[in-house]
Amino acid sequence: MICPQCRSAHCFRSHRRGLFDGAVTAIGLRPWRCRTCDYRFYAWRVAVAFARYAHCPTCGNFDLHRIGHDRVDNGTLLALKRTVGFPAYRCDPCREKFYSVRPFHRIIPSVIPETGAKSPHS
Ligand SMILES: [Zn+2]
Ligand SMILES: [Zn+2]
Repeated sequence: MICPQCRSAHCFRSHRRGLFDGAVTAIGLRPWRCRTCDYRFYAWRVAVAFARYAHCPTCGNFDLHRIGHDRVDNGTLLALKRTVGFPAYRCDPCREKFYSVRPFHRIIPSVIPETGAKSPHS
């Protein structure tokens, strides 16, 4: 999970809190919190803020490779998507091939040093 505010990958599932969290859970969202900047956000496979970009449906990876649209061999409405020529992508870590009409935007977790920044003796 990538934090939509600082793009750190140090995020963890947050506890549900109150009615709003109950409501968003009903549409599949889960509350998360970023360990780096303490930002609280909601996410499906990826954070809501990033969900409009093409991402792997299995692992939420945005670092995708564009492939030929005839190379996807499973999924829903396959024949239709092939015929229409939907953009096809491949996710390297899980070898998932899929179609996505969402715009491609490569989002990579920022590497933030875990120590040093908060030291009072610098
Ligand atoms: Zn953050
Ligand atoms: Zn993947």
